[in-house]
Amino acid sequence: MRITPRTHEIKRVVDIMDDETFEGPEQMAKALIKEIGDMLQMRDLVVLVHTWADGTKGLNIGPFGAAAEAEAFAKKVHIGGTGRVVPLTSSGIILANADGKAEGWPGYCWNPECGHSPNNHAIDGSSRGKCHILSCKCDKFTKDDPSLKTKKKTTRRTGGAKGIQEL
Ligand SMILES: [Zn+2]
Ligand SMILES: [Zn+2]
Repeated sequence: MRITPRTHEIKRVVDIMDDETFEGPEQMAKALIKEIGDMLQMRDLVVLVHTWADGTKGLNIGPFGAAAEAEAFAKKVHIGGTGRVVPLTSSGIILANADGKAEGWPGYCWNPECGHSPNNHAIDGSSRGKCHILSCKCDKFTKDDPSLKTKKKTTRRTGGAKGIQEL
């Protein structure tokens, strides 16, 4: 799975590597693998849905980081039939929209005690106000990392491509 690291992901990995409280390299490696697994779950990936030449259902192959990677894979392998690039909805994003995403994940409230999605915050004029989650004390949606006030962030989306690939 080819992915392009994003700024906030690099920061979280560096934070773990800078953490001097790990008992040894194995503990740090475990934390890194868990963190990166969590990051991958926060991406909309794609799969190649395969149909055999006789029209019967084949294999669902993936995930891939982007449609281009799935297409490159389809060009390399020759198993017969056709493949269709299908977007895979991130279960991590759906969970985060319901439960929040702590520790400053872009798109979610940066209030350290909140982390809930913008939709969980009351509409307050053109911005978002109080968080609706009962256990949460956040009274204003914090859109961006307060320590990076001047930086603009962009949201990238994958998926949507549905090209038929020869396999
Ligand atoms: Zn909240
Ligand atoms: Zn909030």
